[in-house]
Amino acid sequence: MAVAHSLGFPRIGRDRELKKAQEAFWKGELDEAGLRAVGRDLRETHWALQKQAGIELLPAGDFAWYDQVLTHSLMFGVIPDRFRPADGKATLQTLFGMARGVSDSCCGGAHAQEMTKWFDTNYHYLVPEFSADQQFHLGWDQLFEEVQEARELGHNVKPVVIGPLTYLWLGKAKGGDFDKLDLLDRLLPLYGQIFQRLAELGVEWVQIDEPILVLDLPQDWKNAFERAYNQIQRDPLKKLVATYFGGLEENLGLAANLPVDGLHIDLVRAPDQYPTILDRLPAYKVLSLGVVNGRNVWRCDLEKALATLQHAHEKLGDRLWVAPSCSLLHSPVDVGREDKLDAELKGWLAFAVQKCAEVAVLARAVDAPEAPTVLAALAESRAVQAALAASPRIHKPAVQARVAAITARDSQRQSVFAQRIEKQRAGLNLPLFPTTTIGSFPQTASIRLARQSYKAGKLSEAEYVEAMHSEIKHAVEVQENLGLDVLVHGEAERNDMVEYFAEQLDGYAFTRFGWVQSYGSRCVKPAVIFGDLSRPKAMTVEWIRYAQGLTGKVMKGMLTGPVTMLMWSFPREDVSREVQARQLALAIRDEVVDLETAGIKIVQIDEAAFREGLPLRQAQWQHYLDWATEVFRLCASGVRDETQIHTHMCYSEFNDVIESIAAMDADVITIETSRSDMELLDAFEAFAYPNDIGPGVYDIHSPRVPDASEMANLLRKAAKRIPAERLWVNPDCGLKTRGWPETEAALVHMVTAARQLRAELA
Ligand code: GLN
Ligand code: ZN
Repeated sequence: MAVAHSLGFPRIGRDRELKKAQEAFWKGELDEAGLRAVGRDLRETHWALQKQAGIELLPAGDFAWYDQVLTHSLMFGVIPDRFRPADGKATLQTLFGMARGVSDSCCGGAHAQEMTKWFDTNYHYLVPEFSADQQFHLGWDQLFEEVQEARELGHNVKPVVIGPLTYLWLGKAKGGDFDKLDLLDRLLPLYGQIFQRLAELGVEWVQIDEPILVLDLPQDWKNAFERAYNQIQRDPLKKLVATYFGGLEENLGLAANLPVDGLHIDLVRAPDQYPTILDRLPAYKVLSLGVVNGRNVWRCDLEKALATLQHAHEKLGDRLWVAPSCSLLHSPVDVGREDKLDAELKGWLAFAVQKCAEVAVLARAVDAPEAPTVLAALAESRAVQAALAASPRIHKPAVQARVAAITARDSQRQSVFAQRIEKQRAGLNLPLFPTTTIGSFPQTASIRLARQSYKAGKLSEAEYVEAMHSEIKHAVEVQENLGLDVLVHGEAERNDMVEYFAEQLDGYAFTRFGWVQSYGSRCVKPAVIFGDLSRPKAMTVEWIRYAQGLTGKVMKGMLTGPVTMLMWSFPREDVSREVQARQLALAIRDEVVDLETAGIKIVQIDEAAFREGLPLRQAQWQHYLDWATEVFRLCASGVRDETQIHTHMCYSEFNDVIESIAAMDADVITIETSRSDMELLDAFEAFAYPNDIGPGVYDIHSPRVPDASEMANLLRKAAKRIPAERLWVNPDCGLKTRGWPETEAALVHMVTAARQLRAELA
């Protein structure tokens, strides 16, 4: 019997019940008992859904208030001093304080723990903070309570914990320089205590997540794995080490030989590791094969997965387990909920509930290939695969032909930067230290209301356009009064920088309930790329033309780049990421050209997700960087030399990718620097970035309004590394989350700072 199991289920609920309950709790509209009741109901529902779908070994401990890494920090007693409760006993208030910060009018409060991306997903976890004298102690009973709860409901559960090495890897050493790996020996006994208590609750298997085994690990971390697991081996319970998001590669021997009872590997991301793992796995071990993609929304090709599973079954027999590739946390909950998708498209998709059923039927198919339910499922899967392969909704010969006809010339501007910039300067006639903004202005309640009314049919198209025009007009007036040099229209008409464009492209579909947790109570609903992508008509030209018509200053056109469009969507699985990015690039290229034709002299193409597309393994970086820069150039190179292309990226780790960013060859790049006090410009010390650059001079993520002198100081710092004639002056990201008063106040100071620097240089 192959065991069907799951590594974790989405916790937010079909209708984002968890989000709503947490937010109500934070506002004081729901008490703690009410919040806990919502959590309990969700867990009960989720176990039932998985069981009904045919999952035999259910996950426990995958539920979390806010974040599962945070739960572990509480479980291990890793609570920074600023949050430590007086009586030492952590509560839900402690947990939410660590996640969201504590405001305290008397003493300034405590800032939240840092948040960062969970491997290469769009999930964000709270970074544990370790001190050199860090002590660990069991301080949070949630896991045991939830296991108990499951047992009372009659479920056979496999608790999920983050492994000791991954947990330490994810954290940060604070207050002094020390190696966090030194904490391992202090942490390990906790695992023994946890497993002991789980054993007392009747648990048989525990899943220990060690996804860092798919990363390039330093040698001392590899050695630590052996040491740690030799010790953990003595603790009770059967242990399944779970790896996902990539292949084990050079860590395969290490992972296969850890003294535990089973290993889970991701065969969706890294199918190549399959044959090797069969050879290397000791004969006593369970092998769990992740064959159903836990991170995307497409139905699994069951026949293809089954072929591998049958092969493995011959060798492993009952030691074969079947699972999704990773936790289903990264997948929406239930496609059955979609009432607006057409039946054909809906029939191609699988969310968490459907993925569990796929896992279950595959496990059953291994033992009973002729069972009627199995045969029916396989036939249905075959029909879906045939439709996907042949559907004219997906495959567009014209789009494919255009992609095939791309030549190297298409990704090249007419002249090199040095020549272009001369022509641009002549045409644009801007002062030294030109001032601009990143694109969006405050998305006010009235803007959102107008959009909702329009979508609900309460506002006619003409009325909606008029409402947006008046917002644009306001933004333009404000910018003129402030004395900014390059204006933007403010993006009032855009709900989101990806969705806005996706809605206007052929080949994109939208779900109503396809939410995935991004962090805490924040969920995102990525659009689905289902077919070859094309642009039926211009997307932004009328808005920008209108805005340009209101002013004699230069109006910057504003677009989202191909890499960001792709990274923040659910991609297709039948063609590579780069093919999808090329199709997007061609669509955006046409838009850039149309803007130029409409008289727009500057076009900004945002690539906010450029860096996050980097593969987990360094060996794969160059390939990614090559196509990512190429597709950017493809969309930017259809215009004349006189047209200035800007790009924007909002993060600060540039050192690794600076050469590729230069290779994008945007005439101007605006980046985030203010939070790091221009430190990130260190990257520009070692590498002479050749084009114009606007290092953000103030942090838009905070309502604080810095003085002009503060911004001027940052600019002086920047001017030490980058020649003044190549510097722009701008905030570090879009202003849509800010209010108008603080926005105007900050921009007044920004313009003053720019003028000050001009005067100093004159
Ligand atoms: N142009 C976008 C804005 O100003 C850029 C957003 C982003 O970089 N995330 O909102
Ligand atoms: Zn940004």
